[in-house]
Amino acid sequence: MTGQGALSGKSALVTGASRGIGRAVALRLARDGAKVGINYRANQEAAEAVTQAVRNAGSEALLLPADVASATQVQGMFQEVERTWGGVDILVNNAGINRDSLIMRMSEEDWDAVLDTNLKGAFLCARAAARTMVRKRWGRIINMSSVIGVAGNAGQANYAASKAGLIGLTRALAKELASRNITVNALTPGFIDTDMVSGMSEEAKAFVRARIALDRFGTVEDVAALVAFLASPEAGYITGQVIGIDGGLAL
Ligand code: NAP
Repeated sequence: MTGQGALSGKSALVTGASRGIGRAVALRLARDGAKVGINYRANQEAAEAVTQAVRNAGSEALLLPADVASATQVQGMFQEVERTWGGVDILVNNAGINRDSLIMRMSEEDWDAVLDTNLKGAFLCARAAARTMVRKRWGRIINMSSVIGVAGNAGQANYAASKAGLIGLTRALAKELASRNITVNALTPGFIDTDMVSGMSEEAKAFVRARIALDRFGTVEDVAALVAFLASPEAGYITGQVIGIDGGLAL
C-alpha cells in the first residue's frame, strides 16, 4: 500500500470534500503528501475545517467552492488550481447527492438534480482535468460510483442511473486516455457510515447489515485507503476497473 509521501509533488482535487467520504479522502491524500483542492457546494464552514486539517497535516490546501453541475463554476475552479499548482494530477469525482422516491412520484427536478451532480459533474471535472493530465502524460481519475449503480435499488432510479452512468464514463475514459498514461477507475462502495446513510431507519439499517458478510457498515477511512492506493504510482497498471468496497454485501 501507499507509504508516507507516496503522493508528494502531486496535486489532487476532491469534489464534495466538506463531509463524509470526500473529507476522509482529502485528509488521506494529504497524509500521503499530495496538495489537495477541497471542493464543496454549500457547507463552507465544514470545508474550511477540512482545508485547515490538510494544512495541519503539513500539506498545501485550496478551498474551492463550486457546484460541479455548473460548467462555468467547474471551469473557474480548474483555472484556480492551474494558476496555483499548474493543474490537477489526481481527480476524485466524489460529489454526490440522492433524491429518492418511487418512479411514479419522481419529479423531473429530482431526476435532473441527481444526474447533473453525480454524472454530468464528473464529466465536467474529468474534461477539465484531462487537459493538464494529457499535457503531463500522467493522471489518475477516480470516480465514486456505488453498489446501487451495479445492482439497482427500488426508489433510487435516478441515483442508480447516475452511478451506472459513471461506470460507463469510467470505462470509456480509461480507453480514451490510456495512451497518455492516465488511469481511470470507479469504486462501488456499499454502505459507508456518512450523512448519506445516517438518515436510514434503524429497520432499514438492520436489514442491510444482515446482508453484509463482514457484519458492519464501512468507514470513510476504508474508502479513502482504496482511493489513496489507486492514486499512487503503485497502481499504475490498474485502469478501467470497477472495484467493490462493500464488506461482502450480498455475496
Ligand atoms: P455526503 O456525506 O452526503 O457528502 C456529499 C458531499 O458532496 C458534500 O461534501 C457536499 O458538499 C458535496 N456536494 C453535493 N452536491 C455538490 C455539488 N453540486 N457540487 C459540489 N459538491 C457537492 O456523501 P457521502 O456519503 O460522503 O458520499 C460521497 C460519494 O460517495 C457520493 O458520490 C455518494 O453517492 C457515494 N457513495 C456513498 C455511499 C455511502 O454509503 N455513504 C455508498 C456508495 C457511494 P456540501 O457539504 O457543500 O453540501
